[in-house]
This record gives sequence, structure tokens and C-alpha cells, in this order.
Amino acid sequence: MGEKQIVRTSKDGSPTFALLRGEDSLSHPLGNLGLRDIDMKVYPTFGCGHDCKFCMTDIRYKPNEANTITYLKRFKKSLNRYYRFGGRKVLITGGEPTKAMERILGMLEEAQRYELDLIVLYTNGSRLLETYEYRGKTKKIVEHLYDAGLRHINISVHHYDPKKRQRLLNSDEGVCDIVEVAREVNKRDEMCIRLNCTLMRDYIGDVRGVIDYIGFAKRIGVTDVYFRDLFHLENRALSIRFAEMGKVEFTDNQRINFDGLIRDIKRVPNMQFVKTMSRHVGQGKTILFNYNGVQVWFGTLEIGTENANRFTYFAFMPDGNIYYNMNGPEFQVKS
Ligand code: SF4
Repeated sequence: MGEKQIVRTSKDGSPTFALLRGEDSLSHPLGNLGLRDIDMKVYPTFGCGHDCKFCMTDIRYKPNEANTITYLKRFKKSLNRYYRFGGRKVLITGGEPTKAMERILGMLEEAQRYELDLIVLYTNGSRLLETYEYRGKTKKIVEHLYDAGLRHINISVHHYDPKKRQRLLNSDEGVCDIVEVAREVNKRDEMCIRLNCTLMRDYIGDVRGVIDYIGFAKRIGVTDVYFRDLFHLENRALSIRFAEMGKVEFTDNQRINFDGLIRDIKRVPNMQFVKTMSRHVGQGKTILFNYNGVQVWFGTLEIGTENANRFTYFAFMPDGNIYYNMNGPEFQVKS
């Protein structure tokens, strides 16, 4: 019997906790919370070939990594719990997740057993066209991902000019050939890209830059673009305890006036405001526009002020444990 059959739901679609089995009853610490609006953020690894000057991974808490067998075993159990308590969105991020292909492919295989609303991979895209051998089959990473059921890829491309991108990545490892990656992805039925661009004062940070970036996306066949504000690091005694301070400094220097940008964006001809949404249980907001057929999102987020007693994310970290948020070891779920 597949896991899809063990979930029973009430009329509004939420799980009926009383019907769940064994340890997952109402008495369980996860039982009262309800995870319907909480994203499962999965971190296969914190490793990455780049060293971006604003890398959030290097600003947050990073537990040690479990070995792959243990990690996948715990993922299986954690996904099951997440799903049974109502969660439906799985975001695989990092670090650079394609550095841990055995984990990603194992997880995608497991995820196919569930009726999720979304499973998306966040990547810098640098390795998507490389070949990789998995279970005796050698093919491009993008092809492995597609064959394992992945349909949504969120690729970080922080500038349309490859030279500026390379400068930001701060490493010798090649920059993503996004034109070629988009061509490969667009060949595959139902597979789609969202481009993720971090807003920075000296890169893409004003209306002109945003409009040029959208034009670039459209030319390469991408019609979904997310502009991400650099995180607001509040309550710093908590939020940057484990940070590389050079990266905090860079982030502080490059952060733009997000509300000012949105005000200016609303005045752009043909920029149609669609809606504003809460992001990660009120820690931020996302604003959606439509611009000449392109979905354009702007998101901002505050960290360090999360409610310690509830999930901001259902964060499954490389050590194979679940955390309420990414502020430190004390936020690990003890169960
Ligand atoms: S590509 Fe992503 S994970 Fe890698 S260093 Fe840059 S921001 Fe960090």
C-alpha cells in the first residue's frame, strides 16, 4: 500500500489528526501544529563550488552532514510526517544541491509516492549540463532530474551579464550557461524554470536593471522571474551568531530600499500588479506583477525574529534532522 492511501482528510482537505497512526497522534509535539502553509526546506548539503559574497548559507547555522544512507533514511521518515501533517511543498535547496546528486535523486524518487503541490530544486545551475552516472546510467544532470520527476527548477542568475555573475560567484568554477540551460529545459514537456535574481545595489537593484533583466529572461524563453531582497538580519545576537562577518558586511552594503523599488515598479507602464502574499508565516512578503506576459515576483524576508515555538519552515538539514528555523541548534525538533 502506498503512502498516498494512509492520509485521510476532513472536508476542507486538512488531515484528520485523530486518524493518524502510532506516534503521530494528537499527543505528538508535531500534532497540533498543522503544516499546510509551511514549506519543507530540504538541504542535501551546504557544500558549493562557489563562494558568493552574499551567500546566506555562510550567514546561518550549519550542522554537520550525515552520511547519505542515514540522510535518505531520515528524509523518508520526515517527508512522511510532513505530508501527514498537511505539508505539500518541498523545496530542495542548499548549498548547491547538485553537489549531492545521490541524495537528490533518492529524495525525488521518494517524493513521487506523495501527491505534493510542488517540488522544486533551487540551484546555481552551473552543473545542470554536466554528465553524471547514477545506477549505471550516464546522462546530463538535467536529464536525470527530469527522469526522476522534477518539473520545477529555480536557477540563481544574479545578473544577465556573465562577467558580472562570475564576479559575484567569487570562484574559478564555471558560471551557469543559462542560455543553454534554458534551451535544454524548454525541450522537455512540463519542465520549467524560474530565474532567481538577488537585488543588490551594484548589480540588479533599480527599475532599469529589473526591466532589462526581464527582457533578457524573455529572450531566452523564461517567463517567470523572482527578484529577492537580501535578507534583513534582525536580532543579530541570534541571526548572525554563526556568520562569516565579511558576508554580513557585503550584504548590509548591497541591500536596497525594497519598498522604494516596489513603489517605482508600480509606476512602470504595462506593469500590472496582481497580489501581495505573506511569505514564510509572516516573516516577509511576496508581491506579484505581470509584465508583458512575464510573471514577476519580488520577495523580502526578515530573519532572527521567528516565533521559537512554531515552524517557520519545516527545515530538513544535512544532518538529517528537522529544525523549526535556521537560527541555531536549539531549534532542532527533539523527537
Ligand atoms: S551559489 Fe548559492 S550556495 Fe553557492 S556560494 Fe553562491 S549563494 Fe552560496
